[in-house]
Amino acid sequence: MDCIFCKIVNGDIPSNKVYEDDKIYAFKDINPQAPVHVVIIPKEHILTCANDITEENVGVVAHIFTKIPEIAKICGTEEGYRIVNNCGEKGAQTVFHLHFHLLGGEQLSEKLN
Ligand code: 5GP
Ligand code: ZN
Repeated sequence: MDCIFCKIVNGDIPSNKVYEDDKIYAFKDINPQAPVHVVIIPKEHILTCANDITEENVGVVAHIFTKIPEIAKICGTEEGYRIVNNCGEKGAQTVFHLHFHLLGGEQLSEKLN
């Protein structure tokens, strides 16, 4: 499948892994927008963003959220961080495999965009 994030999960594209288990994979964003910028994805290819979360696939989304504190701690940003899901063209989404950005490692702005 021609999906960058599936290729990252499969190891076809190298990445800096932060966390992995049987269901999810987290890696450093190639173009970091904060000192800590990690992308957290389900290993399963789920199109595409929050629009596509269903009763059938929400389990892996719940799993991501239960692991976020651990991933934040691994990154040393457990004191505070932000989770972002860009959804759709006007939401500035560029990769169409469900993912959540974890941003932190500094005092984040109150402004969200
Ligand atoms: P989106 O814009 O869809 O919310 O987020 C996609 C993110 O994936 C962007 O922040 C972008 O920098 C990151 N990204 C795109 N291609 C790669 C890649 O090959 N490796 C890594 N580590 N990050 C990538
Ligand atoms: Zn994919």
